[in-house]
Amino acid sequence: MASKKQVYLFREGTKEMRDLLGGKGANLAEMTNLGLPVPPGFTITTEACKKYQKSGKLKKALKTEYLAALADVEAEMGRKLGDPSNPLLVSVRSGAKFSMPGMMDTVLNLGLNTASLAGLLQQTGNERFAYDAFRRFLTMFSDIVLTSVATKKDGSPLKLERQRFEALLDKMKEERGAKLDTELTAADLKALSEQYKKLIRSEWGRDFPEDPKEQLAMAVEAVFRSWNSKRAIDYRNFSKIPHTLGTAVNIQVMVFGNMGEDSGTGVAFTRDVATGEKALYGEYLMNAQGEDVVAGVRTPMKIAELAKQNPAIYQQFDEICKKLERHYRDVMDIEFTIEKGKLYILQCRAGKRTAAAALKIAVDLVGEGLITKAEAISRIEPAQINQLLLPRFDPQGKEAAVKAGNLLAKGLNASPGAASGIAVFDADKAEELGNAGKKVVLVRPETNPDDVHGMLAARGILTARGGATSHAAVVARGLGLPCVAGCETLRVDEAARKFTVDGRVLNEMEELSIDGTTGEVFAGLIPTIEPDFRKEVDLVTLLGWADATRRLGVWANADYPRDARKAREFGAEGIGLCRTEHMFMEQERLPIVQKMILAETSEERRKWLAELLPFQRSDFAGIFEAMSGLPVVIRLIDPPLHEFLPSHDELLERVTELRTEIKLGRGSDAAQQELAAKQAMLQAVDAMREANPMLGLRGCRLSILMPEIVEMQTRAIIEGALEAKKKGFDPHVKIMIPLIGHVNELKVVRDKLEPVAKEVLAEQKTELDYKFGTMIEIPRAALTAGEVAKVAEFFSFGTNDLTQTTFGYSRDDAEGKFLLQYVQDGILPVNPFQTLDAAGVGKLMRMAVKDGRAANKKLELGICGEHGGDPASIAFCDELGLNYVSCSPFRVPIARLAAAQASLKTSGPADK
Ligand code: PEP
Ligand code: MG
Repeated sequence: MASKKQVYLFREGTKEMRDLLGGKGANLAEMTNLGLPVPPGFTITTEACKKYQKSGKLKKALKTEYLAALADVEAEMGRKLGDPSNPLLVSVRSGAKFSMPGMMDTVLNLGLNTASLAGLLQQTGNERFAYDAFRRFLTMFSDIVLTSVATKKDGSPLKLERQRFEALLDKMKEERGAKLDTELTAADLKALSEQYKKLIRSEWGRDFPEDPKEQLAMAVEAVFRSWNSKRAIDYRNFSKIPHTLGTAVNIQVMVFGNMGEDSGTGVAFTRDVATGEKALYGEYLMNAQGEDVVAGVRTPMKIAELAKQNPAIYQQFDEICKKLERHYRDVMDIEFTIEKGKLYILQCRAGKRTAAAALKIAVDLVGEGLITKAEAISRIEPAQINQLLLPRFDPQGKEAAVKAGNLLAKGLNASPGAASGIAVFDADKAEELGNAGKKVVLVRPETNPDDVHGMLAARGILTARGGATSHAAVVARGLGLPCVAGCETLRVDEAARKFTVDGRVLNEMEELSIDGTTGEVFAGLIPTIEPDFRKEVDLVTLLGWADATRRLGVWANADYPRDARKAREFGAEGIGLCRTEHMFMEQERLPIVQKMILAETSEERRKWLAELLPFQRSDFAGIFEAMSGLPVVIRLIDPPLHEFLPSHDELLERVTELRTEIKLGRGSDAAQQELAAKQAMLQAVDAMREANPMLGLRGCRLSILMPEIVEMQTRAIIEGALEAKKKGFDPHVKIMIPLIGHVNELKVVRDKLEPVAKEVLAEQKTELDYKFGTMIEIPRAALTAGEVAKVAEFFSFGTNDLTQTTFGYSRDDAEGKFLLQYVQDGILPVNPFQTLDAAGVGKLMRMAVKDGRAANKKLELGICGEHGGDPASIAFCDELGLNYVSCSPFRVPIARLAAAQASLKTSGPADK
C-alpha cells in the first residue's frame, strides 16, 4: 500500500475530513474552498500524531512532507520562512476532532530570529511592532515548546513558563510607569527581548534556536505532546472524548492584528450564544493579537462597536458570518484579524452555547428552514437541558442579600445559573475540596487551561478579567457551570488568597454567591430555587417535536402527589414507580408502623394497620387524582422492616446508659419505663438483624411472611382509586410486587391480594380496572421470565437491584469502596449503577423481554431503576423494545429528548 498522505494544504481538504484534519483544519480547508479570506497554510494529520505517540519521534518522511507543503505556501506568498529580507511568519496550532477550547497549545510568530527580525523591521517599517512580535514569540516558544520538548544539560526538565517572562514584562512596565503593554516603546521591547534571550540561555544552557526549521520541528512536536498533557487528559475524561484520537497541527501564515490602530483582532459568534438571539455577538480589540482577547488581559469592545469604527470591514465580516451560518447550517464561532485594514478569517467552528441558546437556535433554524425537526432534536445534548432546569437565586433571598449590602460587584454574565459556595483561589484546592463534596466557587484573576481541573470540580467560576469569549467563559458554558467573568472591580490577591472590592475583603473559605445569568457577585450564601419549566418556550416546542418522534413512553418515579404533579408538568405519561415505604417514614405514621412491626399476633398487627390505612388511602387518592387518565404503578412494601426501627447501636447505647443510671440508684420511674420500652425494641431489632439485609427478608418475601401489610396496602390502593373516581378522576391502577425470584412467590402474593381487591369492589358495589405485575430485579426472575409472565400483566425492570445482584456489588457501598476506582482505572467503562451494563445486566433484560413477550403477548414492559433517566441507557431500552422508561420527575424532559434521539438512530429521521 502506498504510504498515506500526512500533510494537507488547506485547499486540499474539506469539512468532512474532521477525523484526519481535526475540526480546525477541516474548517480552514472548507473556508479556503469557499473563497473566504483565509491566510494560506497546511494541516498535519491526526494520523501523524498517532504515529508520533507510538514512536516518540518526528519521522523524516513527515518532515519532508510538511516542508514541501511549506514550500507551496512560501511560493504562494512570495516570502520564505526565516528570509532576512522578506520573512514569512507562521502560527502553529493544535486542532483535534472535537473542540477542546484552550486545552492545547498555540505558537504564534514562528520563524522569527535575529535575521528575520531585521527583515520584519524592513517589511513593516514598524519597529515597535517587530520587537513586540519577537518578545511574544520568545515567550510562547519557551512556555509551550521548550518547556515541553527541551531538557537542561543535566537532563532535568526545563521550566521556562510564561510567568517568568511576564514577571520581566511587569517589571519593565513598572519601571516605565506604564499600565498597558501598548505604552512600552520599541526600545523597551527590544531590551525586553534581550532579557528573555538571556533567561533562556541561562536556564537551558543553549541559545534560543535561530533556525526556523528547527523551531518548526520543535513546535510540531510540542503540539503532538500537548495531546497528552494533564489538562488535555482531564478535559477528555470529563467530556468523554477518546484518548486515542490524537490532534492535528495547523501551520498557517501569520497575519497581524497588532500592526497599529488600523489593525485588530476578535472573536464573534453568528448569534448570541448566551441567549440564542439572532445578532452578531462577540468582541474585538484594536492593535492586539488574538491571545489578548482570549486570555482576557485587556477587556475588549463589543462587536457592534466595529460597525461604527469601521463600517466597511463590519459589513464584509457580517456577510461572511451569514454565509458561514448558511453553509454550516449552524451558529458559528469565528476568529478574525484585521491587518492594516484588510480582513482575514483565522478559524471557524460550531459555537459553544448555553442550553437556552442551543434550544432557541435549534428551534429558530427549523423556522428559518435551515434544518429539519429531526436535526434540531439530534443537536441538543439531553444532559444540557439540565442547565435550563438549573437552580437560580430565591428572589427574597437575593433581595435580603442586596439589602444587607452583600452585593459586592457586577461582572459579565458569562454562563448562566446561580452558584453558592466557599471561595477558593486556586485550581488545585478547588479540585481537592470539590471532590471532597464541598461546594466551591473558584475565584481567579483570569483562568487559563491549567485551571481546568479546578473548574471541573467547582460549582461556579468568578474571574476579574476577560470577556464573554475568555477562556473562563467558554469553558464554563461548555461545562454548564455558572460563570461571572471580567468583574473588574475585584482586586484578586492570589498570594494572600483573598479579593478586595470597594474596601471590603473576602478571604478564602468564606461564603460567596454568583449569578452567571446577571453577572452579580454576593458575599454569603443565597438560597436557590428551581426554574419554571412551562415558561421555557423553546424547550417545550422542541420536546413537543421529540414526543412526536419517540417510540418509548416516558413515565416518572414519584412517591407523593406533589412529585406526581411535577412529573406531569414535565411531561410524564404515567407513574412507573411509587415507592410506598416512604409514606411509612413520615413523622406521625412511624410510631404506628413500629408498633405494627413489633406486634406479636396477626390480630394486633391488623389493629395497627387499620390505623395506617386512612393515611395510605389518602396518599394514593392524591396520586390518582394528580395522574388522572394515566397509569400509576404502585409498588408494595419493599425494604427490610428494620429500616423502620431505630438503629441497633443507638438502642444498645441508650439501654446501657439507662441500666447504669438505674443501678446507681438515679433511675426515675420515667427511666424505668423507657428502659422497658427500649429493651423490647432492642430485642425486636436483634431478632430482625441479618448479615445481608439487601438479600434478606424484604420485598415479596416479607409479603409472604406478613401478608397483613400488603393486604392493607392493596385495600388502600383500591379504596384510594375509588375515592378519586368518585370525585370524577380517572384512575389507572397497577399494583407491583417486588423482588420475586421464583414464579411461585408471585403466585402466592397475587393469590392473597386479588381477593382483597375484589372484596373492596364488592363492598362498594362498583367496578374498577386494575392490573397486577412484578419487578424484574433478581437474575432468576429474568432467567425464568417466561414462567413469570404467565402470572404478571406487566414487568418493570428494577435495574438498581438487578445491577446489584448481577454484578454482586452492593448498591449502597460499592461506589465509595472500589467502583469509582474501577471506572477510573478503566476496569469498567462506566459506573453500571448510572449507565446500564448492556453486556451483562442488559443481556438478562433482553432475555426477559423475549421470553416474557413470548409467554404473554399483552405483557407491558418498563424500567424504573435509576437508569431510566440516563440517555445511554434509554437508547438501550429503546433497542430492547420496552414500552416505557420511568425516571425521577426532573429527568423527564431529558428522557423525552433522549428517547426521541434513540428513535431517530434506529429508524432514521422520519421528520414530521
Ligand atoms: C430497583 O431496584 O431498580 C428499584 C427501582 O427499586 P429500589 O430502588 O426501590 O430497590
Ligand atoms: Mg429494587
